[in-house]
Amino acid sequence: MRIVLLGAPGAGKGTQCKRILSAHSLTHLSSGDILRKERSEGSELGQKAQGYMDSGGLVPDELIVEMMVKAIDDLPTGGFVLDGFPRTVNQGVELDAALTASGKALDVVLNLEVHDDVIYDRMSGRRSCPKCGAVYHLVSLKPQVEGVCDHDGEGLIQRPDDQLEVVKKRLETYHQQTKPVVQYYQKNEVRVFDVQADGDADMVSVEIQEILAGMGDSQTV
Ligand code: AMP
Repeated sequence: MRIVLLGAPGAGKGTQCKRILSAHSLTHLSSGDILRKERSEGSELGQKAQGYMDSGGLVPDELIVEMMVKAIDDLPTGGFVLDGFPRTVNQGVELDAALTASGKALDVVLNLEVHDDVIYDRMSGRRSCPKCGAVYHLVSLKPQVEGVCDHDGEGLIQRPDDQLEVVKKRLETYHQQTKPVVQYYQKNEVRVFDVQADGDADMVSVEIQEILAGMGDSQTV
């Protein structure tokens, strides 16, 4: 099964990906995680991406498409969940071309829908571990010791792109450039499911599992 997970920043894509992976044997490919790794390694791509990421804009399509097509090509056989990619219609077109060339069509697009005010609450309280990437929330997902990662004891930070002004810009970017990707897939014979994701992550997860189970034998997912 090849899945694309769409949704605004803070819609819960990362959380839901983890849950999908715990139920199905798929590979998770997050464009944001790959970019952050490139940055932490100081690669040329990471350096080029830095300014766009910190200001809440999108990294140019040509850089992202090359990075993600390579990551998909390098995957072991089996399915995948794409998280954060594609984020523009052009990226969607390029992804389709690459998948068609390698005989791997997408099976389903899951579109997480969350109201903007919920996104603001979630993202302004989000704290991350700079070492392992674990994500917490000041109110809804506290670490055992305030300000410290449960996994490795590292001090938690607020990612520069989770700061309020940047969140505003990221949401604007989402509405202008990423929402049209949903319509692109609706017109392209890929099954698209809108998932209401304002509420509890467990409920969202149940809905996603039902959708995936309905796609066919879950043993093959
Ligand atoms: P994320 O963690 O998915 O929210 O991504 C963090 C940042 O990485 C985004 O705000 C963008 O600057 C950049 N980014 C991630 N994925 C893409 C993409 N598909 N296209 C362009 N920029 C991206």
